[in-house]
Amino acid sequence: MSRMASASAAVQLSQRLAQSGIRNPEVLQVIAQTPRELFIDGALTHKAYENTALPIGSGQTISQPYIVARMTELLMEHQPKLVLEIGTGSGYQAAILAQMVPQLCTVERIKSLQIQARQRLKRLDLHNIAFKYGDGWQGWANRAPFDAIIVTAAAAEVPVALLQQLAEDGVLIIPVGDDSQQLLKIQRQGAQYISTVIEAVKFVPLINGDLA
Ligand code: SAM
Repeated sequence: MSRMASASAAVQLSQRLAQSGIRNPEVLQVIAQTPRELFIDGALTHKAYENTALPIGSGQTISQPYIVARMTELLMEHQPKLVLEIGTGSGYQAAILAQMVPQLCTVERIKSLQIQARQRLKRLDLHNIAFKYGDGWQGWANRAPFDAIIVTAAAAEVPVALLQQLAEDGVLIIPVGDDSQQLLKIQRQGAQYISTVIEAVKFVPLINGDLA
């Protein structure tokens, strides 16, 4: 796809997301200017601007653009300065966030995906991202507290470390469940955590344990 064709496809994707209910103009603008095809392997690049999740290798997926936009929109309601993403994957969600917040930290447990994502984000000149190869269940303790944490894989239960690493008024956006998953927004207010169910979702599992 030529650079012009991909730019216009990204704009059309953004317009479709607006029709699907995404309201934040900054989120829509950033989606319209981000080349999703760079985050997808060669054979599937013709599907890059479809509103679907796609395989990225190692049994993982790049999330559906609608859910990337929705989670970003939820997070941006809180105007976070320091954000932690669990599940770097292809790097696409990180690319969207890094254009909207001052500092992003992102954790991935599959080394090959992390290396590829890092190269892609560097090519896009996004330099406000810190990468960690590690187990996202543990968060990133020595970078905490975070104004917002976004988890891009479904956890069997909410990891306690992530709750502990939220700032006093921080927000955690996380899919929870196995076969039936719900996207939760958990807002910390001092010692209290207030949870809101956003919508049903379908994510790959957040693995608790060994690295790959
Ligand atoms: N944000 C990604 C993107 O934009 O492509 C979505 C990636 S995919 C839906 C979920 C990712 O979470 C996978 O890359 C997977 O390896 C990663 N993951 C699963 N369990 C993890 C864990 N415990 N720690 C860190 N990453 C994990």
